[in-house]
Amino acid sequence: KKRNAGEAEFLQAVEEVAETIIPFLQKHPKYRNAKILERIAEPERVIIFRVPWLNDRGEVEINRGFRVQMNSAIGPYKGGLRFHGSVNLSVLKFLAFEQVFKNSLTGLPMGGGKGGSDFDPKGKSDNEVMKFCQSFMTELYRHVGADIDIPAGDIGVGSREIGYLFGQYKRIKGEFTGVLTGKGFEWGGSQIRPEATGYGLVYFVEEILKQQKQEIKGKTVVISGSGNVAQFAAEKCIEEGAKVLTLSDSDGFIYNKKGIDLEGLAYIKDLKNKERGRISEYAEKFGCEYYPNEKPWRIKCDIALPNATQNELDEQDAKQLAKNGCICVAEGANMPCTPAAIAVFNKEHIYFAPGKAANAGGVAVSGLEMSQNSLRYAWTRKEVDQRLKQIMHDIHSICVKYGKEKDGYVNYEKGANIGGFVKIADAMLAQGLV
Ligand code: NDP
Repeated sequence: KKRNAGEAEFLQAVEEVAETIIPFLQKHPKYRNAKILERIAEPERVIIFRVPWLNDRGEVEINRGFRVQMNSAIGPYKGGLRFHGSVNLSVLKFLAFEQVFKNSLTGLPMGGGKGGSDFDPKGKSDNEVMKFCQSFMTELYRHVGADIDIPAGDIGVGSREIGYLFGQYKRIKGEFTGVLTGKGFEWGGSQIRPEATGYGLVYFVEEILKQQKQEIKGKTVVISGSGNVAQFAAEKCIEEGAKVLTLSDSDGFIYNKKGIDLEGLAYIKDLKNKERGRISEYAEKFGCEYYPNEKPWRIKCDIALPNATQNELDEQDAKQLAKNGCICVAEGANMPCTPAAIAVFNKEHIYFAPGKAANAGGVAVSGLEMSQNSLRYAWTRKEVDQRLKQIMHDIHSICVKYGKEKDGYVNYEKGANIGGFVKIADAMLAQGLV
């Protein structure tokens, strides 16, 4: 705690994991004696750099760039880049730490990392975003590479930003390699990558429901966010016959009692991805309710999918969801539920799927993009989707293996933490004190 003073999000993420891992370590002294948990909690390397760029008015702007290379025990560092005003070292260390476990759970050979900047693309012109990305990569290029560290997108980093970053890397290095994932399909990207996190999340929920002899068809779903993860989670829910009642952004949420349909969702995708508009515009166009400055957790539902950002669902929200009869909460975002909220879910036996398991579909397909780049080959949409389904199925099985309690309740958080930990810990033991 002393070493990481002031890093609230990072400490929260490590404490959440430590709570489930420490009892496991008592029974497995080989990991405890080698101080694996302590080593995993310390990044292998952190790079912090200045990002100067010129805005459209010709003025100099300065942002801070980061790359946290957390753990490379089972493969090269892999994890997204986040561009958002709230980015700082604590947030990126928490995300990198979570990423290590998540990547391990996918079964693919990927270590964990995360990076980004306090630059906020919102309200910036295309030209400004490009200049920023070029400046950012002018430093980052020396620390990454297809076999070293492979960044991807996250909040504020979508296909546009990946394109500009990739273009600059290629220009500096003079080589066309798979240094970034989330690339356009025409230039090395994978089918299903944009959809992967949202689709994978719903596949995971379907696995949970299957275990309870239930199905998603006919269920009501409350979703927060309206970005990449939220859009494709909503799409898969609708395709599978569930009713999506809400979506949100940082200004408020929309509530459509009849359920958002694919036409409405197409409008939201255009609104958010092309025009970078506000979710309230959907409510005006489609005549549904809109609640400014509120989160959607008080709306009665069977399933809740927090898909916006960290700590967006607290204890009170969790109690409200429980009161309303919610049976399953699955995190599309990273750490959206506070520890107190998770305690409520466990107490009430609401199935809670933590992000490191439930949203691993995104990085899993990024891993598949890396494989395709190495093979210089592209799999079909169907092939990638099948692999994604299989990976989510396998992650679910790992969670059940390590997380099933005596009374039959599955503590998915415990299962994901221990399942992710064992693979990394074994690799670290095998590689000596590094
Ligand atoms: P996007 O930038 O596409 O969308 C983010 C959404 O969350 C937007 O609707 C945004 O609203 C909202 N949001 C962002 N910050 C806040 C905030 N502080 N308060 C309220 N709402 C906020 O990001 P993604 O969909 O890619 O990512 C969402 C979450 O999922 C993140 O936690 C990310 O780490 C996680 N994740 C993403 C993966 C991916 O493949 N994309 C993979 C695994 C996890 P607004 O439009 O107003 O900005």
